[in-house]
Amino acid sequence: MQVRTVVVLGAGSSGLLAALTLKRRIPALDVEVIHSSKLGIIGVGEGTTPYVPSHLHSYLGLSEAEVFRAIEPVYKLGIRFTWGRRPHFDYTFSGQQYDWRWPDLPRNNGFYTDEDTSAIDLSSALMESGHALPRRSDGLPDVPPPGRMLAWHLENRRFVGWLETACRKQGVRFTDTEMTAASRDGAGGVAGIQLADGSSRQADLFIDSSGFGSRLLGKELEEPFDDYSNALFCDRAIAGGWDRGEEPILPYTLSETMKSGWCWQIDHPDRLHRGYVFSSDHLSDEQAADEFAVVAPQAKDPRVIRFRSGRYQRAWVGNVVAIGNAAGFVEPLEATALMVICLQCRWLADGLVDGLLAPNPTMRDLFNRLHRQTWDDIRDFLALHYKFNRRIDTPFWRRCHEETPLGQLEELVAFYQENGPSSLGRGLLAGATSAFGLEGYLSLLCGLGVPHQKPHHPASKEIGIWEAKRNHFRKIAADGMPMREAIGELRKEHTWKRLRGTR
Ligand SMILES: Cc1cc2nc3c(=O)[nH]c(=O)nc-3n(C[C@H](O)[C@H](O)[C@H](O)COP(=O)(O)OP(=O)(O)OC[C@H]3O[C@@H](n4cnc5c(N)ncnc54)[C@H](O)[C@@H]3O)c2cc1C
Repeated sequence: MQVRTVVVLGAGSSGLLAALTLKRRIPALDVEVIHSSKLGIIGVGEGTTPYVPSHLHSYLGLSEAEVFRAIEPVYKLGIRFTWGRRPHFDYTFSGQQYDWRWPDLPRNNGFYTDEDTSAIDLSSALMESGHALPRRSDGLPDVPPPGRMLAWHLENRRFVGWLETACRKQGVRFTDTEMTAASRDGAGGVAGIQLADGSSRQADLFIDSSGFGSRLLGKELEEPFDDYSNALFCDRAIAGGWDRGEEPILPYTLSETMKSGWCWQIDHPDRLHRGYVFSSDHLSDEQAADEFAVVAPQAKDPRVIRFRSGRYQRAWVGNVVAIGNAAGFVEPLEATALMVICLQCRWLADGLVDGLLAPNPTMRDLFNRLHRQTWDDIRDFLALHYKFNRRIDTPFWRRCHEETPLGQLEELVAFYQENGPSSLGRGLLAGATSAFGLEGYLSLLCGLGVPHQKPHHPASKEIGIWEAKRNHFRKIAADGMPMREAIGELRKEHTWKRLRGTR
């Protein structure tokens, strides 16, 4: 298999990110996107992890100033959960929350947070103050390098619009028509696809980014699907938005416990979007709409979206690589889908480069192992959220408590329950491939207030050192910059020049 020509089926976030990644990393490839504007895109996918900006800027080398102006993201410092026994807790991307250990304290942070988790790192202090970024001494917003501390809130259609422009600039060709059928080759892959305009396409490599329909991998190649519904019970969302007024722009995602699931709030510069993710075993669409109307009365024309959580056993079969919802999906509790898309694009591009554009079976096998492990890690991380949220007592939450399996996290949770939020299991219990690491797992266990047997009772000197650190973060955060002001600054080319030198 020598790859020179690539056909991408689908022009949602996944197809466009795949086309852009391949053309940026391997310009000699001939890449065509086939998509149907009649079928459209799913049009959700708004929260990210820091991996997405890192993919665009550090891996693909795209200009921060240009991308910021085009997609106008709101910086996301983390997720505020109104879950568990505390009024709320903040899960951030700083990597300096519960697993972090200061040299002048005998324990890692998790041991100091039994009572209060606020301002334990700079990001949570900023979230507390409602500010998005620290302010530099010259008055500019202090934007950390891509991939550190900050993720994005994106308006999906705006993001997709920009991705298409970026692809065209890179030399990707587009054809707007429907794929009607595909024929198999003799090697377990696809020989060609037939299009509604009467033409057909052959290619060395097909990317299936056709969304939940999974037209090539699922439908044509009939790859088996591993369902996660025994671990994750939600299968629908009702979502809507409205134009914002003068209210401040929150630099984080809000995740609130609801009777049969949870509700997100994602802030954009001009809009607010909310959505209720729920389980249809426990709630009808009408009941969900009624509950949603209480928390989001302004939401215009809320729409119900159905999904199933799970992944295909393999994402790369023969000459077909599925990326995005066509390969796997879990509900958006940690907003991981765009991150996984970027990871898949990177595994593929690096695999092609390292394999001299002739990937062999061991390359395909490794890609498929990464695909399975990444999705299974995410499933288990989400399961942890559900298992231990004891905020309200309803049939849905009782079921989550009683029936949610912890999968690969059984040992980690047992260790935590006996030993508290110790860092000792890092790498071993948290799993080397996990995108969340021990920091992520401890954030949820400590944040939700899951009891353990080894509470720490710090001496007054220790408390003094701990409080001084939190007060330091609070002071920086109090002088910080609100998102609206940061947007004004970061729209200007010369701000980025000053922040990044020549870039
Ligand atoms: C309720 C909900 C909330 C979500 N929130 C988030 C979030 O906050 N963060 C996040 O990262 N992700 C989120 N996601 C996941 C999100 O859907 C994906 O990140 C994302 O947008 C990927 O979409 P896609 O490109 O795979 O599929 P789609 O956007 O569905 O694109 C499919 C493409 O394939 C084309 N197509 C399909 N069939 C054919 C055919 N036969 N012929 C030609 N073209 C065809 C379509 O026209 C379209 O262009 C959420 C998902 C749901 C359901």
